[in-house]
Amino acid sequence: MRAITFDIDWAPDWAIELCASLVAEFESRATFFVTHQSPILRSLERDTSRFEVGLHPNFLQGSTQGGTFSTVLDHCLEIVPTARTLRTHALMQSTPLFELVADRYPQIESDVSLLLPFHEDLRPTDIYLGRSNRRLVRLPYNWEDDIVAEWPGWSWTNETKRKAGLEIYDFHPIHIALNTDRMERYRSFKASLNGKPLTETTPQDVAPFVNRGEGARSYLQRLLQYGSDVPSFKISDITDLHLGQECKVL
Ligand SMILES: [Zn+2]
Repeated sequence: MRAITFDIDWAPDWAIELCASLVAEFESRATFFVTHQSPILRSLERDTSRFEVGLHPNFLQGSTQGGTFSTVLDHCLEIVPTARTLRTHALMQSTPLFELVADRYPQIESDVSLLLPFHEDLRPTDIYLGRSNRRLVRLPYNWEDDIVAEWPGWSWTNETKRKAGLEIYDFHPIHIALNTDRMERYRSFKASLNGKPLTETTPQDVAPFVNRGEGARSYLQRLLQYGSDVPSFKISDITDLHLGQECKVL
C-alpha cells in the first residue's frame, strides 16, 4: 500500500505548490507534514480528496515552534487544527513524547516517524501508551529523498514498481525544486543564501543549483506515473483501513 508524503521543512510556497501540482497532474494523493503557517496550506486543506495535512513538529533545541513537547505540538495544531497524523522533524521520538500524544492529543491517531530504509512488507503497528492507554498507530516508512541521496549504491533510475506491504515515500519540497541528486547540491544552495530564510527563497535563487539529470523530482514523477496503476493513499486512509473503519476515499 503506497503513500507519497512530503515534510515541508520551511520550504517556500512555490516549492510546495510544485509538489502539489505534480501529485494533481498524475491524479494521485499525498500527505504534507507541515512546519509553518503559510497561505498554501488552506488550498491543500480544501482539496481533501487529494491531500492530507499533518504535523511536522520540531523538538530540536532552538526550535522556533516552542521549547517543550506540548508547546511545540500546540503551536503545530494551531497551524493545522484538523491534523490526524504526525511525523517529527529529524525523527526525534521518545516514549514520553508518545505518552503525551496519547493522553493530551486524541485527534492524533497515527505517527509516521519510524524510518526503516528499503524494508519490505512493513505493516501498521499499534502501540498503547500513557495514562489513557490510548492506541497510536505507527506506520513505519521505508524511503526518504535526502537519505537515499547518500545511500551507497542508490541510483535515481531505480525501479518504482510496487512492493509488498507499506510503501511510504518521504520527499522534501526543496529537494523536488532542486531535483536533488546528492546532498552536496543542497548544501551549496543553502550556503548561497547567506542566511536568507528558506521560506523566502525564490525560483531564481534555486535556478543555478537545479539538477538537470536524474534526481528526487524525476524519481517522484516516475513514481507518480507508475502510480496510475498503483493507487496511493493518504496516511489517514491507511490508518482508517487498519482500524477497520470506513475509508472516505475508497
Ligand atoms: Zn523535517
